[in-house]
Amino acid sequence: MTTPELPLSTPSLSDLVVERVGFGLFVLDRDMNVLMWNRFMQDHSGVSAEDVIGRPIFERFPDLPRAWLARKVESVFQLGSFAFSSWEQRPYLFRFDHDRPITGGVDYMQQDCTFMPLMREREVIAVCVTVSDVTHVSVMQREREDAVAKLREYADRDGLTGIANRRFFESRLMEEFSRWQRYGGDLSVLLFDLDHFKKINDEFGHVAGDTVLRSMAQRVADVVRKQDVFGRFGGEEFALLLPCTPLDDALHVAEKIRHTIGDTPVDVQGVVVPVTASVGAAAARPGSSDYEVMINEADAALYSAKRQGRNRSVVLLHELS
Ligand code: GH3
Ligand code: MG
Ligand code: MG
Repeated sequence: MTTPELPLSTPSLSDLVVERVGFGLFVLDRDMNVLMWNRFMQDHSGVSAEDVIGRPIFERFPDLPRAWLARKVESVFQLGSFAFSSWEQRPYLFRFDHDRPITGGVDYMQQDCTFMPLMREREVIAVCVTVSDVTHVSVMQREREDAVAKLREYADRDGLTGIANRRFFESRLMEEFSRWQRYGGDLSVLLFDLDHFKKINDEFGHVAGDTVLRSMAQRVADVVRKQDVFGRFGGEEFALLLPCTPLDDALHVAEKIRHTIGDTPVDVQGVVVPVTASVGAAAARPGSSDYEVMINEADAALYSAKRQGRNRSVVLLHELS
């Protein structure tokens, strides 16, 4: 058996490897002159090895981050150790096109770079820089972040109406209540419940009932302020948290919402469905030690509104302590 002859003459095996590898590879001296430039760099930059070797890299690539790159290379010369740059810190060193059909918001090829000291007799004689195309990683990460953001958004929303669900509402209520405890000011809450909703379901069907719920949520969402938190509290019960709002003003908002709901019946595929709501209002006040006190008071006011005949807003008055 004979050992196959290896072509050890020029180009050397290592030259062939450097030429063929699927990442950029070039070598710089201490004055930032290019000493080596592989095919990947040629193919992606459009600048041939003959054109760049022996010249300062900035001559052919004036867009490079000059100060940053010079500092990075100099540090490798001084310390004799590897340095890295990740696409997460600096998306790219060279402005190369990427070959992804769907960009996913990525404009240029995303790159990880390694700066490697080339040593001779314990002295750094040059720095070899590798440039890896990590566009796929960055696109995947972006997609994952988008998916997580969407999931988080879904987790906070009520499936039927699209407004905040009870869990999210309560978490915001806790936050606002703590803020109120710490800084004072005003904080009110409204609970409102559609009147005789069971009858609407019985008379027009559950699907029509769902349409009414969606439409009511949308109407109210359109009239609340940006800083208010509007959520579905239960079946046909909703809650509105009003930061920086004293009880008097909350009562005005309650009336506005009651009219928003009750003044115009809902049109469910040509069938006119009249809907009204009862509203209970309460505010955080000295002595309320936690947010549940405020919710319980709004709930008691709501049921008082129901008892008084529905389609009204009620606030229970307390002796100031
Ligand atoms: P009240 O004026 O005292 O509030 O009377 P009500 O009929 O509205 O109150 P009740 O609590 O007896 O009934 C609530 C109804 O709301 C019963 C329930 O089937 C209905 N409901 C709860 N969630 C949904 C939903 O998601 N879709 C539909 N269509 N109906 C729902
Ligand atoms: Mg009801
Ligand atoms: Mg109810």
